[in-house]
Amino acid sequence: MTDTDRSHAAALDAVDPLAALREEFVVASEQQVYLDGNSLGRLPRATAARLAAVVHEDWGRGLVGSWHDWVDLAYRVGDAIGTALLGAAPGQTVVADSTSVNLYKLAAAALDARPDRRVIVTDSRNFPSDRYVLEGLAAARRLELRLLATPTAEPVSAADVAAALSEDVALVSLSLVDYCSGALADLQSVTAAAHAAGALILWDLCHAAGAVPISLDDSKVDLAVGCTYKYLNAGPGAPAFLYVRDDLQEQLRQPIWGWFGQREQFRMGATYDPAPGITRYLAGSPPVLAMTAVEAGVEVLARVGMTALREKSVALTDYVIALADAWLEPLGVAVGTPRAVARRGAHVALRHADAWQITQMLITRYDVIPDFREPDIIRIGVPPAYTRFVDGWDALDRLRRGVAAGEHLTFAAERARVT
Ligand SMILES: *Cc1c(COP(=O)(O)O)cnc(C)c1O
Repeated sequence: MTDTDRSHAAALDAVDPLAALREEFVVASEQQVYLDGNSLGRLPRATAARLAAVVHEDWGRGLVGSWHDWVDLAYRVGDAIGTALLGAAPGQTVVADSTSVNLYKLAAAALDARPDRRVIVTDSRNFPSDRYVLEGLAAARRLELRLLATPTAEPVSAADVAAALSEDVALVSLSLVDYCSGALADLQSVTAAAHAAGALILWDLCHAAGAVPISLDDSKVDLAVGCTYKYLNAGPGAPAFLYVRDDLQEQLRQPIWGWFGQREQFRMGATYDPAPGITRYLAGSPPVLAMTAVEAGVEVLARVGMTALREKSVALTDYVIALADAWLEPLGVAVGTPRAVARRGAHVALRHADAWQITQMLITRYDVIPDFREPDIIRIGVPPAYTRFVDGWDALDRLRRGVAAGEHLTFAAERARVT
C-alpha cells in the first residue's frame, strides 16, 4: 500500500538528492503544477544570460568575426548531447534542423543505401510527423510502408519487429519512448532484430533523450534523431540532434546537398562533394541563438548525469502510478503506461473517456498543466530535473476531487487547435 498522505510526498522530496536542481530552473508560479515538460521543458536560469551574451557580445560586437566560434557549435553541442545523454562517443552527433527534417535526411540516406529493398517498417502508433515523413518517402519512391500494430500500452518488441521483417525491408524506424503511452522499447534487442534481417534502423529519441539512459554505441544503432525542447529544456522550436554511427558516415549520403555539408565549404567548389565524417549530415546555416540555448539546457543535465536522473524518474513515475491506482482507478481512470520499470519512460499516461474535459478542468480550474493526446490520454510528464513528489501528489489530488465532483463534465468535448 502506498502512503497517500501529502506528508509522504514531502518526505520523499526532503531526501531527494536532486532536489536542488529545481533551483536551476525558472519557476514563475509556485502555485502552478507544471506536468508538461515532456512537451516543452522549463527555462533554465542560465539560459537568458547566455543568450544575452551571445546577442550583445558575439553578435552585437563581434559581428561576422564570431563565425569562427559559431561554426563549431553544431559539433560541440552535438558531442555534449551524445556523450552525456546518448552513450555516443564524440564525432557522431550534431545539432541541426528539426527532428522532422533530420528524420527525412537520415531515412532517405538509409533508403539510398539499400536500393534493392522496397519496404520501410514503422509502428502504427509512432509520432505523426515520423509516420508522415516515412509515408512521403515511400510515396515518392514507390515503396511499401509497413505498419506494426503493437498493443497500446506495451513497447514495440524485438519479436514484433522480427515478425514484420523480410529480405525486402530497407529501414526500420521507431520511437524509443512512445509519445502517448510512455512505453520504452529495448534499444539493443530491437536494433539487433533489424540488423538480423539486413535492415538499417533509425531511432527517434524525442521522448527518450534526457529522460532515460541510452546506449547508442553499445547497442550498435545505425541512425538516430531527437529534439531538444522537451527533456533538454532548450526552448520552443530549438533545433534537433542527429546521430550517424561513425563507420556508416561515409557509406551514406543525405539528400539535402547544402554548403555546410560540403568538403572545404569556403572553397565554394563548383559541384557538391560531401565532407568526410558527420559534417555531411549538415545542410545550411545553424540557428546560433537557439543552439546557445540547447548548450545551456544540456549542461544542466550533464552535471548530474543520466544515472541519477533515471533513479529519480523511476521513483516519480512509480509514485504517480501508485496514487493513480489508489485514487483514480475507482473513478474510471486507467494507467496506460507499462508497469514494468524497464519498459517505462519519464511520463505516465492516464486514460479516461473524458480525458479532454479532465485536462481542461485541470488547467483552467486547478492550475495543473498536463496535456491531452488522442483519443483518451492525459499525459502526466514528470521530468526528474525539476519535478517534485508533491507536484505529483497535488496534481492527482486535484484530479480526483474534480472528477469525483463531476466538474470536468461542465467542459465542452470539442478540442482546441493546440492540445
Ligand atoms: C516531439 C516529437 C517530434 C517533433 O518533431 P519536430 O520536427 O521538432 O516538430 C518528432 N518525433 C517525436 C517522436 C516527437 O515526440
